[in-house]
Amino acid sequence: MSYLEIDGAMGEGGGQVLRTALALSICTGKPFRITQIRAGRKKPGLQRQHLTAVQAARDISAAQVEGDKMGSTTLSFVPGEIWPGKYHFAVGTAGSTTLVLQTVLYPLLLAKEESHLTLTGGTHNSFAPPYDFLAHAFLPILGRMGPQVTATIERYGFYPAGGGQLTVHITPTGQLNGLSLTERSEMVACQAQALITGIPEHVAYRELERVAKKLKWSQECLHFCPLPSDQGPGNVLLLIVASEHVTEVFTGFAKRGVRAETVADGAIKKVKDYLAAEVPVGEYLADQLLLPMALAGEGEFITIAPSRHTSTNIEVIQKFLTVPIKQTQLTKKAWLIHVGQ
Ligand code: AMP
Repeated sequence: MSYLEIDGAMGEGGGQVLRTALALSICTGKPFRITQIRAGRKKPGLQRQHLTAVQAARDISAAQVEGDKMGSTTLSFVPGEIWPGKYHFAVGTAGSTTLVLQTVLYPLLLAKEESHLTLTGGTHNSFAPPYDFLAHAFLPILGRMGPQVTATIERYGFYPAGGGQLTVHITPTGQLNGLSLTERSEMVACQAQALITGIPEHVAYRELERVAKKLKWSQECLHFCPLPSDQGPGNVLLLIVASEHVTEVFTGFAKRGVRAETVADGAIKKVKDYLAAEVPVGEYLADQLLLPMALAGEGEFITIAPSRHTSTNIEVIQKFLTVPIKQTQLTKKAWLIHVGQ
């Protein structure tokens, strides 16, 4: 059997290299072998979330897998046929449910029948898309490419307690359509949501005050969102910017020992940079739109300076697919990413 060889240390050297390889291996039917999994991270190898992603990928594609053990830095994966259906994937820790979804979403989008997923674990993790990013930013854009995917949050899951739950319903499309996202146009609405549970309420109020002061968003845009006490402790600040052509979500994840103002300032800076660049697509959406566009065979978007996740994802995609992906700098702050001929 011939395997595509993937170096898990390439570029960003994180979990995304593995997830993209799993997704594209199933979509294309090409087996792969990966070494140095997550070599760029403090704790390299498969952690709970990555292992759950591997097992989820195996389950939906009847794959033969070797190396699917905690801490493993090598893995071989031979996909079979795609099996849509009802699945429950449990990370077992506060590891990100949305990143497990990232792994199985594309094969299930291209399947012949609908799928219904229940994912348990973390729903709002640092360094991962929070549920709200999925619901407000990513899935609506994906919907414009053909498939219908709805995600609902049943329970919130924060680090370190976890225990969150998402349900996701996927109505597939035979072929994804390309999409052009080159304009943002005017901001039509904005919202700041401070989610909080098990932490003194003043933390959320201080985050919202900071947004009012630094972004000049009016009181009706600011939402204090207390969550049930058994779903914490946790706090995140979500800044949702809805423009005519796209909605973006920027997040400040609270961390023990970090002041509310500092958490808010991080998210506020992202909003400011995004608005100043006058682009439709922000940093995270950029690396996440590459896969659906590459599978569609065409698409383009304008974004800020490509992140290492974006350039690494391009490299992994080009191992599996022949579709060209070009990055062109347009202005000091704007880049065009073009997928296809
Ligand atoms: P990795 O670090 O390789 O596991 O990949 C992390 C993934 O999470 C990338 O696809 C990022 O775009 C995504 N991501 C990280 N932080 C955020 C965030 N705040 N909002 C949305 N997506 C995020």
